[in-house]
Amino acid sequence: MNTVQDNLLNIKNEIAEIAKKCERDPNTIQLIAVSKTKPVEQVIEAINAAQLAFGENYVQEGVEKIQYFEKNMPNNDLIWHFIGPLQSNKSKLVAEHFDWMHTIDRLKIAQRLNDQRPKDMAKLNVLIQVNISQEASKSGVKPEEVADLVKQIVTLPNLNLRGLMAIPEIENDYDKQLNVFTKMQQLLQSLQKDYPFMDTLSMGMSGDMQAAIVAGSTMVRIGTAIFGARQYL
Ligand SMILES: *Cc1c(COP(=O)(O)O)cnc(C)c1O
Repeated sequence: MNTVQDNLLNIKNEIAEIAKKCERDPNTIQLIAVSKTKPVEQVIEAINAAQLAFGENYVQEGVEKIQYFEKNMPNNDLIWHFIGPLQSNKSKLVAEHFDWMHTIDRLKIAQRLNDQRPKDMAKLNVLIQVNISQEASKSGVKPEEVADLVKQIVTLPNLNLRGLMAIPEIENDYDKQLNVFTKMQQLLQSLQKDYPFMDTLSMGMSGDMQAAIVAGSTMVRIGTAIFGARQYL
């Protein structure tokens, strides 16, 4: 079985190869290691292989890991990304512990995070989650409603609106994946005319990373290909 270290190396090589093919600088594509459901031992293996950015889906689990590393690895340079759905009654924990929040889908959540962000922490980096596949069941803002939400979020002083995020419907066909991700790229580009500081597109997972990078992703969120399959209790 491959180690976390081998897997990270393979993914980084793969990112570099895809970047080369589409003439992008590989350094503009950040790898977020999605450690949800995985124990701190595996996170430590990744840290030992120079991985610093981690993504967590469940507030409680994420906060426990963040606190573990604050205690056992003081002054660490780890960057924690919250990438799961967030209920408003849990927003305070995200505001107090994470560096990035990828799944803003309504103004109320943004306002709560803004109010709850401790004054001695850097601004919380936030992304708006877009329901790009237009599925009734999926969370995220409809593409045509994104601009309005952006206008409101940029007024919140403790948030730093960095861009957009999407989790498209699972699709195995490369051209269809690319088509959906390209819509995200176009949406970000249209917003950048008024908000040039929006520099981030969080898209691409283990199964659709290539299409995401070709369409301009700047953050790929990879779990399974680094840590192996997840077992849910
Ligand atoms: C679990 C998860 C990932 C990682 O998915 P893999 O298929 O394991 O790479 C990425 N993004 C989000 C939002 C997730 O929930």
